[in-house]
Amino acid sequence: MKASVFYDVGDFRYEELPVPKINDDEVLIKMRACGLCGTDVHKAVAKTVKTPIVLGHEVSGDIVEVGKNVIDFKVGDRIFVAHHVPCFTCHYCLHGHHTLCRQFKATNIDPGGFSEYIRIPALNVKHSMHKIPEDMTYEEAAMAEPVACCLHGQKYVNIMPEDTVLIMGAGQIGIIHGQLAKAKGAGKVFISDISDFRLQKALEFGMDFAINITKEDLAEKVEELTGGLGVDVVIIAAGISTLLPQAIKIARRGGSIIVFSPFDKNPLVNIDSSRFFEDEISIVGTYSSTPFEYIEALKIIHDKKIKAGEMITHTFELKDLGKAIELASNPNEKYLKVMIQI
Ligand SMILES: [Zn+2]
Ligand SMILES: [Zn+2]
Repeated sequence: MKASVFYDVGDFRYEELPVPKINDDEVLIKMRACGLCGTDVHKAVAKTVKTPIVLGHEVSGDIVEVGKNVIDFKVGDRIFVAHHVPCFTCHYCLHGHHTLCRQFKATNIDPGGFSEYIRIPALNVKHSMHKIPEDMTYEEAAMAEPVACCLHGQKYVNIMPEDTVLIMGAGQIGIIHGQLAKAKGAGKVFISDISDFRLQKALEFGMDFAINITKEDLAEKVEELTGGLGVDVVIIAAGISTLLPQAIKIARRGGSIIVFSPFDKNPLVNIDSSRFFEDEISIVGTYSSTPFEYIEALKIIHDKKIKAGEMITHTFELKDLGKAIELASNPNEKYLKVMIQI
């Protein structure tokens, strides 16, 4: 079978790998669509992972082989599958932090999403694999993973009807967050970015106001838009640590901030710590998604509560994954969501 293997920055190789063998509790799928996640791009550009490796985790496909103990799925089923599974019993899991579970990151699909065939281990078959409705495309189903991550993040704050929400970063994640906030009844969603293309896209997906921070002062604009109140919720959906002090400045008294991006470059920032006590500001960090959110994400996409498939601006063949990464790592490129197909 073929897979696109990541060797080094700028070095992806379309190689022949053996088709994975499954045991009695596992499933083999043929990949039909795999979304390119911001974290894949981050891994490929910053080389934060051991290589060679097959990346990709936003997967949908067809079941081509099932182990004899698997009862819920059969050959021919169209499925969505996520890569990590928590143990549900450790200290983290029992405190509701399933994505911090030690088992979580130790589990994965084999060899990865950017591969022609993929072995789905028993834990994933049990907890993170779902049939996709007949009228849902493979590409829409593959969007369930990033949507689930945003659902997971928004569980940490209470977005109430008529709230104003500011999304910092109008990439794929920012626009999913904005659509979910709208679906929850948020009154106004503002979105900020440096790219007019992405901001225009955000408006097309229902955001109420787009702010290009290279042309306008974000804090001033938000003050004007909220009559001096500040926003109820800020969601940081761009991996730039200096957005945090800005978010703290912009949140209203009692407001919440969700940090939804890695701040691994220059993580030390100066914040106005006086806003916590008397102003009751809260900040939460959130990472990945859990089995609880996949069914919810599939349903939200299927019910058209958000537009997911419409976010796909580019589709590449598996052999061209390197080109897809090149496109997605260029901040000046006009793209939103990149999908890889076989
Ligand atoms: Zn992802
Ligand atoms: Zn656990």
